[in-house]
Amino acid sequence: MRRICLFILLLLSHPCFAQDLNYTQQTVAKLTSKDFWGRGYTKDGMTKAANFIETEFRTFGLKPLDGKSFRQSFSFPVNTFPGRMEVKLNGEKLIPGRDFIVGQASVGVKTATILEQKDSINFLAAKERIMVTLQDKLTWSVARNINDYTEIFVKKSVLNELPKSLTIDVENVFVPAFQASNIGAMVKGTLHPDSVILMTAHYDHLGGMGKNTYFPGANDNASGVALLLSLAKYYAKNPQPYSMAFICFAGEEAGILGSRFYTENPLIPLSQIRFLFNIDMVGTGESGATVVNATLHPKEFALLNKVNTNGKLLTKINPRGKAANSDHYFFTEKGVPAFFLYTQGGISAYHDVFDKAETLPFTVYDSLFKLFVGFNAQLMNQ
Ligand SMILES: [Zn+2]
Repeated sequence: MRRICLFILLLLSHPCFAQDLNYTQQTVAKLTSKDFWGRGYTKDGMTKAANFIETEFRTFGLKPLDGKSFRQSFSFPVNTFPGRMEVKLNGEKLIPGRDFIVGQASVGVKTATILEQKDSINFLAAKERIMVTLQDKLTWSVARNINDYTEIFVKKSVLNELPKSLTIDVENVFVPAFQASNIGAMVKGTLHPDSVILMTAHYDHLGGMGKNTYFPGANDNASGVALLLSLAKYYAKNPQPYSMAFICFAGEEAGILGSRFYTENPLIPLSQIRFLFNIDMVGTGESGATVVNATLHPKEFALLNKVNTNGKLLTKINPRGKAANSDHYFFTEKGVPAFFLYTQGGISAYHDVFDKAETLPFTVYDSLFKLFVGFNAQLMNQ
């Protein structure tokens, strides 16, 4: 054990080990750029992100999981908003994303009408089937279905008076079979290539709402993809006894669809996965991190804490039980040992237009990188 600890300490203090913060920041900037349009369902955003990730894996020298293709394609229905997105309340024009969002399963509508107050937050245009709801915080999502009515959520603080009249022009396009791809790559193990450590991070986000508004998804989950790519780059240069595999999943925000599809159609047998680490929302960390499934795998959680304490990395790691809140979930259900880690502290933007690259502090990126490399080395030394 002592020998292993010394090895870890040497590894952590090695100058070449320092991860490339420039690269991470550039990657987050790229993934959150207007060009990628929130890595969603309009303006080819998700496809552009997929192309970028595949190019990175290829450039670093990683190989496809099945030896043939970096892509694993699947499809699902999704409701999208590629076009007009105009809302006026009491004659005041509201700004999409900042002042209002459209309910993700809404059908498009173009009309001018009078609203009837139903209660303190809900206002209805019954004939036109439109509901306006006041909220303190706007939180968007992705819908795989379409309703026969339209929901508009308005930020309470932008209104001076209760909603009375509404002018609306919202366009939706329902896509019955949106094509998405998981992007996977690996570095073959030098001693035990059939034992695999898998790191995962979803690259999709919510996409755009109308022609001029997109959700950058910097923390969720450009941060995780950037960290995963840094690790892929590092492991491509430093092959390990076990195979190191990396998958960027699509369709997470639409209901953890990419990882579910993968577990039903695995490219590496699930039984070969010694451990899976899913990272989603890792751009903060002033108050540490939380690990989902910690209570399921106490031995591995103790190991993670040891690496953390020895390396003086994160302020603390909070243990949490099972949760169906990201891409580790279907792996856990199929018996693959897995952790899901997310960081805490700092910004609170979530599923809104304020989750931007410039708000991410990156303060614990270096620590997270060391934590994962240290933990993986311990797993392989057991
Ligand atoms: Zn996420």
